[in-house]
Amino acid sequence: MTFQTSIHKVLDFAKSKDIYPDLHVIEGPSTNPEVIIEGKKMLMFSSNNYLGLATDARIKTAVKNAVSKYGMGSGGSRLISGNTDIQIELENKIARFKGEESAITFLAGYMANTGGIPALLNPPEVSAAGVIKKFLRVARKPVVFSDEFNHASIIDGIRQSKTNKVVFKHRDMNDLEKKLKKEGGNARKLIITDGVFSMDGDIAPLKDMLSLAHKYNAMIFLDDAHASGVLGENGKGTMEHFGFKHDPFVIIMGTFTKAFGGVGGFIAGSEEISRYLRVMARTHVFSAPIPPAIASGLIESINICETEPEHRRKLWQNVKFIQKKLRELKYDTLGSQTQIIPILIGDENKCVEASRALFREGIFAPAVHWPAVAKGRARLRITLMATHSDEQLNTFIYKLNKIRKIIGW
Ligand code: PMP
Repeated sequence: MTFQTSIHKVLDFAKSKDIYPDLHVIEGPSTNPEVIIEGKKMLMFSSNNYLGLATDARIKTAVKNAVSKYGMGSGGSRLISGNTDIQIELENKIARFKGEESAITFLAGYMANTGGIPALLNPPEVSAAGVIKKFLRVARKPVVFSDEFNHASIIDGIRQSKTNKVVFKHRDMNDLEKKLKKEGGNARKLIITDGVFSMDGDIAPLKDMLSLAHKYNAMIFLDDAHASGVLGENGKGTMEHFGFKHDPFVIIMGTFTKAFGGVGGFIAGSEEISRYLRVMARTHVFSAPIPPAIASGLIESINICETEPEHRRKLWQNVKFIQKKLRELKYDTLGSQTQIIPILIGDENKCVEASRALFREGIFAPAVHWPAVAKGRARLRITLMATHSDEQLNTFIYKLNKIRKIIGW
């Protein structure tokens, strides 16, 4: 079979099952609660711009000023020529925000995971003679323990590392402990989890996980993509949510793509970890950094996050309102505790149909189905923002009820 035929077959399959995503073109910003699609006003319930900062006037000004100063690109990777003052300032800023000693940034959260995880798992061995034996694994291969619902970028990072992977049941600390005992032994152990799970909106049981990490001498790699700026009194993320400031057993990853309203990823931890990743994480070494103007916008965005808790408060007010309504109306939200709210439908085609019906009603709420989630677990996945008004939230509930009656699930 030629490449062309196999590609054609895949596309044909998606078409026959009607699961190829509807890629609507949004005219103008995609991050506001109201967007324009094909000339029509729509309510956006699918953006990760949780605090509404993507279009904040102060951030736009910071970006514009930085474009005037730095231009557009950085001309090379950080190790070649892109190591500008603004990059260092952003790293210091996010490290302080997350309560860590140091941080290193990447062009995307995806790249933080696919570059950071393999580098952390595979430090090259330095021989007694002081020679680095490239990628000779220390003593025994490390073992990575990964929640079954972890994000694709974590899964890809683990794949890249070519190390032993043990998957534990979603948020199940008994299962994790059983596996740490059985599979961990004396090997170096890394537990990886989303802080807020991207498809289910539930929160990792970090307190119990941390006790296990201490007990079994394992490190935790915490993907705080959806928790940064959102969870905890000051929006510092999952650690703050559970009342922790800092723990040497935890390395934190995050993205600037969601609550911070921009683009980019980071890993925060000790100064040593940053220094190590700077030369060992291939997605940092061999790729250009976050564009300087965006870095500048992100610094302003973290500032706002730190000094204006009202955005976070409004977001949580919206989350509580919608969660309560959906529970009262007997929708299955799969135990979501946050701004990411799945509405389980189950059947793939029914879910696509529901999403399209909502679209016709002026609501943008995509269907998420296999292969992004397990077969038979298709869902509408909505995300809330601080900028949604009460009226918009009520409209969503009204339209959702309307289409449930028509489609039936
Ligand atoms: N981790 C999680 C949990 C995510 O949901 C995402 C993005 N959806 C990423 C990492 C990747 O982040 P980015 O979009 O910045 O590449």
